Amino acid sequence: MTDRPASPTPPSATGAAPHPVPSRRLLLVHAHPDDESINNGATMARYAAEGARVTLVTCTRGEEGEVIPPGLAHLAPDRDDTLGPYRVGELAAAMEALGVTDHRFLGGPGRYRDSGMMGAPQNERPDCFWQAPLDEAAGELVAVIREVRPQVLVTYDPNGGYGHPDHIQAHRVAMRGAELAADAGFRPELGGAHAIGKIYWNCNPRSVVEEGFERLRAAGHPFPGIASVDDVPGVVPDAEVTASVTGGRAAAAAKTAAMRAHHTQIAVDGPFFALSNDLGQPLFATEHYRLVHGAAGAADGAREDDLFAGTDGAADTRQHGTRIEEAAE
Ligand SMILES: [Zn+2]
Repeated sequence: MTDRPASPTPPSATGAAPHPVPSRRLLLVHAHPDDESINNGATMARYAAEGARVTLVTCTRGEEGEVIPPGLAHLAPDRDDTLGPYRVGELAAAMEALGVTDHRFLGGPGRYRDSGMMGAPQNERPDCFWQAPLDEAAGELVAVIREVRPQVLVTYDPNGGYGHPDHIQAHRVAMRGAELAADAGFRPELGGAHAIGKIYWNCNPRSVVEEGFERLRAAGHPFPGIASVDDVPGVVPDAEVTASVTGGRAAAAAKTAAMRAHHTQIAVDGPFFALSNDLGQPLFATEHYRLVHGAAGAADGAREDDLFAGTDGAADTRQHGTRIEEAAE
């Protein structure tokens, strides 16, 4: 039920025009529908608009999430337990807003069920993502990596940004999947080995987060309360940030629209938003990363502004820059 654009293929023997293969390919691995828009919405919108192939793998349907709109409270796991299928629709709408056509669930929709916060009884369910054997789940990702052959992978830090079991597991699966995909001896039936050039972890520089909360406190906003810096996932000292990505106003607007599409999970108000705890926090149009594998494409000490910098995709971008910009119109 997900769109799967054609794999990279050579021109056909009949001389027919080949399916164009985007030279830049970005893979993102996330735990639940909504995480991609909050963390990487602007980045995804930018690269999709530039003609890169953007592939999202979401590990669960987020069945255990809390539901914000009172009119949809019946979706909750302790009532109809239909939040998962509903969030599949929210994710599809978010991807449309970002211009991303390749989005999939790890192992297919519903293969791994959402876990609860650490210590929650849901985490004992044998079908939950937290209980999934690592190499089995990573194997599902290996199939995607070997098909898409991305130069760049984005996921969470080892703590999953804020300690949610599904986020920690998504990190483990992403890192193990990248390792196994490059190992020609691992399940060769899943495709030819592929080594991902650069791996990034999502992060938020502390100064930017603090400044965002100052803006929020100074602005009029509708939220009953304000979150704290510690509620924001992946806050790191500024010096640890190696890449800052923006897509300008169009990507920022797309990110906001994508976050709105996750309306059971996120309430957006201008440049701010709240999750189900009703605590306002800043919405960031510039997104930040730590390069943890591969060579930086920026001078020593400088932050990258392009995740593909230094990859073979970057060289292709220069070559086809005009075409890609035209495609973005
Ligand atoms: Zn999540």
